[in-house]
Amino acid sequence: MTADPSGRPRKQEQEPASPEPTELAAGVIRLQIPINFTGLGHVNSYALVDDRGATIVDAGLPGGETWSAIRQRLRAAGLAIRDVHTVVVTHSHPDHFGSAGRLAHAAGADLVAERRFHTWFEPIPHTHSVAAPPDTSDADEAEEDDTGYLGLIRARRTPWGGSPFPTSRRQKIVRRLATRGLVPSMRPPIPTRRVDDGDTLTFAGRQWRALHTPGHTGDHLCLYEPAEGLLVSGDHVLPTITPHVGGLSPLRDPLGSFLVSLARLLEIGPVQLVLPAHGHPFPDLRGRIEEIVDHHEDRLRALREIGRGGRQTVVEMSQQLFRRPLWGMMAESETYAHLEFLRLRGGAERVRLEDGQLAYSVDPDGSSSARAAFGAAGDDD
Ligand SMILES: [Zn+2]
Ligand SMILES: [Zn+2]
Repeated sequence: MTADPSGRPRKQEQEPASPEPTELAAGVIRLQIPINFTGLGHVNSYALVDDRGATIVDAGLPGGETWSAIRQRLRAAGLAIRDVHTVVVTHSHPDHFGSAGRLAHAAGADLVAERRFHTWFEPIPHTHSVAAPPDTSDADEAEEDDTGYLGLIRARRTPWGGSPFPTSRRQKIVRRLATRGLVPSMRPPIPTRRVDDGDTLTFAGRQWRALHTPGHTGDHLCLYEPAEGLLVSGDHVLPTITPHVGGLSPLRDPLGSFLVSLARLLEIGPVQLVLPAHGHPFPDLRGRIEEIVDHHEDRLRALREIGRGGRQTVVEMSQQLFRRPLWGMMAESETYAHLEFLRLRGGAERVRLEDGQLAYSVDPDGSSSARAAFGAAGDDD
C-alpha cells in the first residue's frame, strides 16, 4: 500500500495509471488506463499478442482521455489500434465496456462478451435469463427474466425503494444519441460473439477457458489459461478491495451467486498468477478468496447485530453498516444484497412500507453464513 499526498494509505486499485506496459507472461501485457470512477485510479487492459495482432481485454471508460491512453499504451507495447483484432469485455460496467465499442469499431475488431452481457446501449433487452445459484431452494423463482431488472433501470427505481438513480438531463441526451451510434467517443459495445461458460478462446497463442462468474454482475466473465495457470479475473477477484456485490442486478441472489462463483475458481486447476482488472497481478488466489469470504461473513454478522434494533429500512441499515462518507446508492445496494442473502436462507423477513421502501427484520440469532454458501459450492467434488 502506498500513501497519497494527504498521507492516507492508498489501495493498489486507487493508484494512478502507470504509462509503462508490463509483460507478465509471453504475449500477455498489462496496460494501465486511467479512470476516475468509484474511487479507482486505473483499469487494467490486457493485451494478448499473437501473430495476427492483439486481443484487448477491457478498454476503460468512454471519452478522450481513455482513448489517448489506449493509443499511447499500445504504442509503448509496439502495437497500434489497427493491430487489435479482438476486444473482450469482462462485464457490463462502464470502466470495462466504456471504450470497447469505439476500439472495436476503429480497429474493425470482434467484440467478445459473456452470453448475458447487456448495457443501456441496447434498446431491446435480451431474453437470456440468469440461472439462480444452486443453493436457492424454491424452483418457481429459480429463473428470473432480466426484463424485470431493465424495467427497474428504466423506471430509475431501486428495488429497496431508496433514492432514484441520479441521471442528469445531459446524461440522458448523450445516452440516447450514443445508443443510435451518434457519439463517436461512445460507440455501443455490441458483442459480435457471445461466449458460454466452458467455451475455449485462443488469444496470445494460448487456449483460454471462458468462465461465467456471476455475482459482481450477472454477466461476469473470467478467462483461465491452464498451461501457465493464468487467470484474467476482471472485477470478480481484486487484490486489496472487495468487489462490489450489489442489489442492482438481474441476479436474484447476487451475494450467493458471487460466493458460488468464488468457490468455483478454486476448482478450475492450478492458478499461478491472477490478472485483475484493478490493482497489481498477484499469485495467491486462494488466500485472497478466503479474505473476501471473511469480509462478507463480517458484513452478515454486523447486519444480524443491527437487526437487534428491530425492523428497519435498507437505507437505515446501510447507514449503520457503512461509515458516513460511503453512504448512498452503492452502500444501500450492497446492504440490500446482504439482506436478500439472509432472507433467502430464512434469516430475515421483509415488508414493503407505504412509502415504497423495503424494511427488514433480521434474526439476530440466525446462522446462515457466507462460509456455508461458499463451502456448499465445493462440497460435491
Ligand atoms: Zn465492475
Ligand atoms: Zn471495474
